[in-house]
Amino acid sequence: MKAQQGFLEQSVQVLASIGPKRALALGDAGIATLEDLLYYFPRRYLDRSTVTPIRDLKENEDATVVGRIIQADVQAGRKSRFVLALSDNTSILTCVWFSHVRYWQKKFIVGEWLAVSGKVSRFGVYQMTHPEFDLLGDDKENVGFNTGKIVPVYPSSEALTRVGFDSRGFRRITGRMMEGLSAKVEEILPAHLRESQNLMPLVQALKHIHYPDSFAALEAARHRLKFDELFFMQLMLAFRRKRFTAEAGGIAFDKVGDKVKRLIDALPFDLTEAQKKVLHEIRADMKSTKAMNRLLQGDVGSGKTIVALVTILIAVENGYQAALMAPTEILAEQHFLTIYHLLQTIDVQAVLLLGGQPKTLRAGILADIASGRAQIVIGTHALIQEQVEFCKLGLIIVDEQHRFGVMQRAMLKKKGQNPDVLVMTATPIPRTLSLTLYGDLHVSIIDQLPAGRKPVVTAWRSDSQRKKIYDFVRQQVKSGAQVFTVFPLVEESEKSDLKSAVESYEAMRATTFKDYRVGLLHGRMKSDEKETTMASFKNGDIDILVCTTVIEVGVDVPNATVMVVEHAERFGLAQLHQLRGRVGRGDKQSYCILIAYGALSGDARERLDVMAATTDGFKIADKDLELRGPGEFFGTKQSGLPALKIADVIHDIDILYRARKEAFDLVERDPQLVESNHVNTRTYFNNHFKGRYNLAWVG
Ligand code: ADP
Ligand code: MG
Repeated sequence: MKAQQGFLEQSVQVLASIGPKRALALGDAGIATLEDLLYYFPRRYLDRSTVTPIRDLKENEDATVVGRIIQADVQAGRKSRFVLALSDNTSILTCVWFSHVRYWQKKFIVGEWLAVSGKVSRFGVYQMTHPEFDLLGDDKENVGFNTGKIVPVYPSSEALTRVGFDSRGFRRITGRMMEGLSAKVEEILPAHLRESQNLMPLVQALKHIHYPDSFAALEAARHRLKFDELFFMQLMLAFRRKRFTAEAGGIAFDKVGDKVKRLIDALPFDLTEAQKKVLHEIRADMKSTKAMNRLLQGDVGSGKTIVALVTILIAVENGYQAALMAPTEILAEQHFLTIYHLLQTIDVQAVLLLGGQPKTLRAGILADIASGRAQIVIGTHALIQEQVEFCKLGLIIVDEQHRFGVMQRAMLKKKGQNPDVLVMTATPIPRTLSLTLYGDLHVSIIDQLPAGRKPVVTAWRSDSQRKKIYDFVRQQVKSGAQVFTVFPLVEESEKSDLKSAVESYEAMRATTFKDYRVGLLHGRMKSDEKETTMASFKNGDIDILVCTTVIEVGVDVPNATVMVVEHAERFGLAQLHQLRGRVGRGDKQSYCILIAYGALSGDARERLDVMAATTDGFKIADKDLELRGPGEFFGTKQSGLPALKIADVIHDIDILYRARKEAFDLVERDPQLVESNHVNTRTYFNNHFKGRYNLAWVG
């Protein structure tokens, strides 16, 4: 049967009993249409197999009980409390609430059925304190439950509950929506794919995810819906890659001049094998008439800058301009100096474009970029401003690309005619994530550090050991080391107890380290002040640089060998890894001391322990993922990917691989999805993903 046109796009208000006020509350929770409601999945399910008869409860164990409310009382006393008794015909359970007793009293009605979950204790009878609960309603519904029905429990919130959408309220409207569903929902996957992947039909899956006949059916439904979610995400990536590689008119950088060779000969070191390997891959991309769209991944200190510079020179030798975009002024400035220095004997013009440059200087730089005199343009996101016009932009490199949003990269790309793109990141991510976050890019990995690097010796200490830490720092400086001391904030804010960089700088300069040269660097200083300070530190004119996280990414001062991080408990793992990456960049032994304050949360302690245990970026990334969950990476503006509702890229890795293969195969076979059995897939894709697909052309 042909599905009803547009049924799912209708507002939830077409369901009886949903007026404007209730619709508004649902809308705030992301449920505006019938389709939204259909994809609002239960968070768990109750049935006889997940419910324990009260008679069989065990003390100190978590359990779910379903029973009828036989008594509900406020017990007055020194402190009043609300006590409720439940019976399931095997025995009696009491539930106790010590606060909001009036509220609870209104909530529970004697005679209704209730599911409660919590830890079981025993005071004569079994008892739960402040259990999680779910109102099941009248007899009839519960009879169904007792005869083996599986009851969905929906997520809710205070705002939703206030307008009657607790779990039971949701059951009413989802129940109504299920009526005649098969006539209203179209299949969105081609039959051949459903068969080969052994997937339940969509309408069945949607029925069973809300009201499963059995746990086996629920499992099959979940599998199908996870597959859909991952499949359409991969389909978007497959389209993007197809579009990218199919688009002719990329630049073929096929001329090989002597600039690259002269640069490499002039380096004080040999390239690592890993650097050579990725340059080989980049070179092949650049030669081809298709535009390069590549991600260069390499841990902190692996030497991505020099790879970027070689790539830039290839473009320049072919008569094109190259742009290098960095997330901070300090990093852009540093790249500029490095490149300027390395190119001294090679006749190439580089300019630096930052946000706050003086007018006349800026005008000159813009003119050079427009005329093509500037062959290499290095800068911050100032590069994407409207006034910046390139003469012949052929290559874009984005350093620390995770710091930019997809829009910013897209805007830079528009400044050229289908330029080659290389994005670089030091944030190692597990393969599962790179298949999704970067699923449309080609990936090159520098999986080796330059020879002679010693792992940074790392320890975390409590604030109380500060004296010993300072003694160590003094001793290090005496033997010629330079030190970073990083603070989380610039100025002491009234509310917070964070030590401010500025204040500590004053104290260190005046007392703690008065015999040493102490410098200060933070984000609110003027550009030229930052430049001067950074240059003095680089030249060895500053021993101890007190700073904020402005130095977090990219900063390269090989003689700096001690990193002290204040309030390390407040930083995330990725950030700590980046900060530590500022030392250990030469062949000298480096140290990282993480100073933690106060009582630590379990997570904070774990993060610090991981940092002390390993310097391997991939191990740290895995741990980060474990602690924060993949949700952090999706549904953000940066990722350009939709948030996942039911699939989980870690646990559903098998489904991810299958979905990816099917999606890429499908686009290979039928790039426009014009075959008749692909039309529904195309329509669904266009309705749900087209916007993202167009916006997020890369990464
Ligand atoms: P990242 O990958 O973190 O951006 P950089 O490109 O800043 O790393 O390189 C880190 C340091 O290693 C720099 O001081 C750089 O000069 C040096 N370096 C890069 N490649 C090599 C190499 N092959 N051998 C020795 N040192 C290298
Ligand atoms: Mg770098």
